[in-house]
Amino acid sequence: MRRGRRHFVNSRPTPKGRRLRLGVSSCLLGERVRYDGGHKRDDYVAQTLNKYFDLVPLCPEVAIGLGVPRAPIHLVGNVSHPHAVRVHGPAVDVTAQLKRYGRRMARAERDLSGYIFKSRSPSCGLVRVPVRTPKGPRCGRGIYAAAVLEALPLLPAEEEGRLGDPRVRDNFIERVLAYRRWRDFEASGITAARLRAFHAAHKLALLVHGPGHYRALGRIVARAQRGEIKNLSQAYGRRFMAALQSPATRERHTRALTMAAKTLEPRLGGRDRTELLAAIRAYRTGKASRGTPLTLLRRHLRRFPHPELARQAYLNPDPLELKLCAGQRR
Ligand code: SF4
Repeated sequence: MRRGRRHFVNSRPTPKGRRLRLGVSSCLLGERVRYDGGHKRDDYVAQTLNKYFDLVPLCPEVAIGLGVPRAPIHLVGNVSHPHAVRVHGPAVDVTAQLKRYGRRMARAERDLSGYIFKSRSPSCGLVRVPVRTPKGPRCGRGIYAAAVLEALPLLPAEEEGRLGDPRVRDNFIERVLAYRRWRDFEASGITAARLRAFHAAHKLALLVHGPGHYRALGRIVARAQRGEIKNLSQAYGRRFMAALQSPATRERHTRALTMAAKTLEPRLGGRDRTELLAAIRAYRTGKASRGTPLTLLRRHLRRFPHPELARQAYLNPDPLELKLCAGQRR
């Protein structure tokens, strides 16, 4: 770990008692807002996530006045710029209203830390929403979801269907917490030195998503030392959130754990060292969870303080991560 002038940045977990806010398609919470008067309650969202986050229910079709029940709409036209029109009856195009509402919500709900959209919806769907084009059926994005994410491009977003996959779910939670850290960091005033400290505190967290990301972000940090901090910090934020979307692998986790262990190794006694390396090996071969070496590392860090290592976000998982991410326990 690199030593140098110290700038404290917050890589710590969310303060106790602070509940992060997530936008959610209302129908996923059991609200009867669908075109047919039904809902699409999702138990993981409505029960599990509801315990830990403040969920903000939003139904764009009801908000623009389409009512319940209502005539269903679908996407037609150009796959990159589709239109949302009524499926049956006289042609009614609600594209402009849905876009306007999306932009308005993005302005009003700037403190959201993430968004869970209803899959396949012509308004809320994030990926693979059916679009009828002159060349046949294609996949696109719902009009409202596209408008929200155009206005808040870094906001972590997922669909409820994809959250059934533990890797996608873990990654979403990780991005939500990292996004919050980044927004808080931005709000507290970014200087070149603080950006360097933020980057250093996320070294291990970034390496598990790919060393290329860490290096590319490092180049932005280096340019920031020479000026233009505003533009470069924005570029850093974009690249930082994009990096976290790359899947983390067991192999890279093993390397990150080993790197932390090697930093502490000179201070550890023979038994502690053997136990720590055995725990990392057991994780690498799938015989132990990642939580085992992480707990040992944190214990040793308390006994043998090492400021740079102690500031690593990777070694200080948020309690929410520990509760919600299967990967921490696998
Ligand atoms: S998918 Fe979106 S627009 Fe459709 S009912 Fe659910 S919240 Fe409303």
